[in-house]
Amino acid sequence: MLQKEEILAPVAAGPLAVQAAVGARMLSLGGHDDFNQGQISCRRPGSVEFFIKGALTGFDEATPEDFVVGGVDPGSPSDRLAPPEIPLHQAVYEARPDVSCVVHSHSPAALVFGALQADLVPLSHEGALLRNEVHRFTLTSNTILDISVGRAIAGTLGGGLGVFLVNHGSVVVGKSVRHAVIFALMLERACRLQLDALASGRSFATSSELDVAAKREFIFADLSIRAYWEHARRRVLRTFPESRNW
Ligand SMILES: [Zn+2]
Repeated sequence: MLQKEEILAPVAAGPLAVQAAVGARMLSLGGHDDFNQGQISCRRPGSVEFFIKGALTGFDEATPEDFVVGGVDPGSPSDRLAPPEIPLHQAVYEARPDVSCVVHSHSPAALVFGALQADLVPLSHEGALLRNEVHRFTLTSNTILDISVGRAIAGTLGGGLGVFLVNHGSVVVGKSVRHAVIFALMLERACRLQLDALASGRSFATSSELDVAAKREFIFADLSIRAYWEHARRRVLRTFPESRNW
């Protein structure tokens, strides 16, 4: 069997691939690892192509060179290291011109919460953002291997921020790498916190409608997302010193 080092496809690791690799490491630190599974992809501006983390590489070890090129058109040839779930990414980019980054992972809290008959509520700040934004996809819980399933997931996504892939994982999208990664981290945290509250067996308080509206305006403003990203990036630099050389 070929080793990863022997078959890596050469990719021009520009600033976008660097940002995506930093995002992958953030996802790792946020509990999104599941061996080499899960992907982050980002659309190349003004292009019908996107970068996507190669199939063999985990979030925790991804470098800019591990990103390969995929085409939005499902009929376009894929890199030999493109992950099997590339149809998911193609379908989302096809359906959502406003989306520049797609995160798919099997993070535990979102996976467990997705399997419950419960809606995300504004228990925490994150819940205020994500309430009514993440619907459940139940057609199949298998790996997404063909474009028809990808398109069905894009249909469930609609104009929202994410999808629970029931008994599989989750998908989160954003208008930038920053947004998608931070929202994916927030989804995992929102699910974890609500699971903890549900496990207590007690009733719990949620934010008022007024507060939810105010939070969406301030806590999730672009400037705030940038600040969260910069904080998470510093954590990546501390945890993975090799990323300073990217
Ligand atoms: Zn998956």
